Amino acid sequence: MQQILSYDAVVIGAGPVGLASAIEVQRRGLSVCVIDKGALVNSIVGYPTNMEFFSTPELLEIGDYPFPTAHYKPLREDALDYYRRVTVAEKLTLRLYERVVRLEGDAGEYIVVTDKAQIATRHVIIATGFFDIPNKLDVPGGNLPHVSHYYKEPYAHVDRPVVVIGAKNSAAKAALQMARAGAHVTLVVRGAEISESVKYWIRPDLINRIKEGRIKAYFNTLMQAVTPEAVELLTPDGPVSVPATYVYALTGYRPDYALLMALGITTQNDAASTPSHDPETFETNRPGVYLAGTVCGGLNTSRWFIENGRYHAQVIAEHIAATTNVPQPS
Ligand SMILES: Cc1cc2nc3c(=O)[nH]c(=O)nc-3n(C[C@H](O)[C@H](O)[C@H](O)COP(=O)(O)OP(=O)(O)OC[C@H]3O[C@@H](n4cnc5c(N)ncnc54)[C@H](O)[C@@H]3O)c2cc1C
Repeated sequence: MQQILSYDAVVIGAGPVGLASAIEVQRRGLSVCVIDKGALVNSIVGYPTNMEFFSTPELLEIGDYPFPTAHYKPLREDALDYYRRVTVAEKLTLRLYERVVRLEGDAGEYIVVTDKAQIATRHVIIATGFFDIPNKLDVPGGNLPHVSHYYKEPYAHVDRPVVVIGAKNSAAKAALQMARAGAHVTLVVRGAEISESVKYWIRPDLINRIKEGRIKAYFNTLMQAVTPEAVELLTPDGPVSVPATYVYALTGYRPDYALLMALGITTQNDAASTPSHDPETFETNRPGVYLAGTVCGGLNTSRWFIENGRYHAQVIAEHIAATTNVPQPS
């Protein structure tokens, strides 16, 4: 028979906000474990090699640990190292490569069911982010093996025709990096221009590379199909076939709504399909179950990020401590 473990709180997701939440709960004298279906800070593990964060290091700090970096902006590798060191320093209990599948029970007596165990707890913090469910290309061939929603590095694409779909930061950075590494990059953009939300130091760079012809771009253009050798586009001037040995569809991600449903979290009937939660306490429609970090924004995935999402941790931990009657330091 499977052993039933027990903690005062369970955090689902070992991203920056999940870790911050576990630290704050543990510092209030409660036992907590952090479960992740992948590695520690699994989303950041999936970011491009040597990616530079747009935030300066102090804005990514959790648990009041300083984040020293050699550069003005930290790289992906700096962040991976930082969050690991903080986790070790706080002696957080981790259950990695273990997927949460549902939540059973009621207020005060929940059972978090994973693919490996059942964990009894009074409080659950859902910090599952958005990076696991890409917005898929809904066209024939959109699931072919050379179509990816995750860009890592340019080196496999030297002297090869690559198509990048999207007009936001990730698409802009991938297109620029691959073009500079010698790939033949075509950018496909549904709207009339590169998004205004692209960072102010990246947008002019991309616009100028398009102007000088190093990157070919199609605006006001719709994807029609992906074949093993090309992408079929509908441009304002009619259909165009663009050769492509690889296609990066960098068109955003969305929270795992199937998981939220399996955890019993309802969704609001608004434009962002916001998962139900009290904006003051982050408690959901299930008492003692909280949302933290990016997942709080629903489809508005740019509403919460590390800089502002890390503050959810303290609010939630205070609410948990207050409702658990743990004596707090004055
Ligand atoms: C390329 C890129 C660059 C970025 N740069 C910045 C930046 O400079 N500054 C900034 O503030 N933000 C930045 N962001 C946004 C930021 O990284 C995210 O907002 C942040 O990761 C959110 O943290 P989180 O803890 O809420 O979620 P995540 O970091 O996404 O963590 C969620 C975790 O939940 C786990 N999980 C999901 N489902 C399950 C399950 N069923 N069972 C168990 N575990 C599960 C996942 O494996 C994952 O580890 C960037 C994002 C991207 C994509």
